[in-house]
Amino acid sequence: MFDYDYIIAGAGAAGLNLAHALGRGGFDSARVLLIDRDDKTSNDRTWCFWEAEENVLESIMHRSWVNLAFHGVGFSQVLRPQPYRYKMLRGIDFYEHMRGWLRAQSNMQMLRGEVAHIEEMADGQGAVVWVRERCFRARYVFNSLTPPLPTDVRHHNFLQHFLGWVICAPRACFDPDVATLMDFRIEQGGDTRFVYVLPLDERRALVEYTIFSEVLLPRDAYVAPLRRYVEQQFGLERYEIEHEEFGVIPMSDAPRVRRPSAHVMNIGVAGGASKPSTGYTFVRTQRQAVRIVDALHRSGVPFYTDSLSSRRFGVFDSTLLNVLTNRRISGAQVFTELFRKNPAARIFRFLDEDTRIDEDLRIMSSVHIPEFTRALGVVLKKKFQRDSGDAS
Ligand SMILES: Cc1cc2nc3c(=O)[nH]c(=O)nc-3n(C[C@H](O)[C@H](O)[C@H](O)COP(=O)(O)OP(=O)(O)OC[C@H]3O[C@@H](n4cnc5c(N)ncnc54)[C@H](O)[C@@H]3O)c2cc1C
Repeated sequence: MFDYDYIIAGAGAAGLNLAHALGRGGFDSARVLLIDRDDKTSNDRTWCFWEAEENVLESIMHRSWVNLAFHGVGFSQVLRPQPYRYKMLRGIDFYEHMRGWLRAQSNMQMLRGEVAHIEEMADGQGAVVWVRERCFRARYVFNSLTPPLPTDVRHHNFLQHFLGWVICAPRACFDPDVATLMDFRIEQGGDTRFVYVLPLDERRALVEYTIFSEVLLPRDAYVAPLRRYVEQQFGLERYEIEHEEFGVIPMSDAPRVRRPSAHVMNIGVAGGASKPSTGYTFVRTQRQAVRIVDALHRSGVPFYTDSLSSRRFGVFDSTLLNVLTNRRISGAQVFTELFRKNPAARIFRFLDEDTRIDEDLRIMSSVHIPEFTRALGVVLKKKFQRDSGDAS
């Protein structure tokens, strides 16, 4: 009655990480179909993230750093966030690795096609994915198709948008041992802007101009400051741009529906995997995949409930977004205070939602307390109003 046990619609980060987790988690006889419209043969993005442990994809990491520079408002420091390392994974290496791995899995198939529609089966026993006029039935469908950006005005809808170049300089000018996590020594333009520098060797680096704000800008508004930064910080007027990437990641506390219907589960960005206060998503898609596999083992059903602590961190995310949206304090000031007053490892643990309450309090006492308290009040009031509205 089913063509597959599981269909994964969208074979990007979340879809491929889920297939990998299923294979590693003992589902080697489950019939799995992955569908994507793209052949994934270009290096369309670079994923970076901090991590204390070995990643299951450690062997394909392009680079990693133990030293991270932070340049804030009147404060600069090289951080050593042990046990965390900051890692870089190139999209193309991930896609190629996963293609090779999938070829070796006799229970998994890959289909290139445009998903038009996903719906419940008429008998309510599974779900159907339509690819043009063909339909595929499965017990469960995982949907990671690129969702529209959130616009619900009852929530904070920030965007993280960035232009990055891998540049090759005519002379040695980068320190390959130190990656720059955030450099706020640039014009802020009334929102939150920083540059991110990931040196690949002494002459090559990924340099990325990043903005947290509500609206995207014309191309030149990214290009001009990026050029200016490279010239001012590295004295470079001429260099080769080997690769360019532009990205937009939602930084929103609007809830994403994880279970749109009985046999469909949204995953990845579509399933709320992007951390609202930072936009970091990749490792969260890996963690989500592991939780799905655990849930399937436990109950045969992929859905899981979030822990109570994730609600606490949701409130912290919203509070930061409220501070930034209302320009209560500049993002440059907030991140400067955070990194000036806390060990980097504590901040990473907090952003990974792994801290205890006493550590949360330390983090909170390091930022501008009156403005964060005001923002927290607004967030809790809105949440209460939404919750009581939902209940009535
Ligand atoms: C340029 C860029 C850089 C990023 N850098 C980082 C980073 O450094 N660290 C981090 O943690 N996060 C980063 N992110 C955020 C996040 O990790 C990525 O967006 C990640 O790829 C999200 O995974 P996903 O599976 O939800 O979406 P995707 O990886 O985008 O996968 C969705 C897939 O669905 C396919 N698809 C969409 N619509 C259809 C359709 N109708 N039919 C068939 N297929 C379809 C797409 O082709 C795509 O392959 C970045 C995002 C971008 C855009």
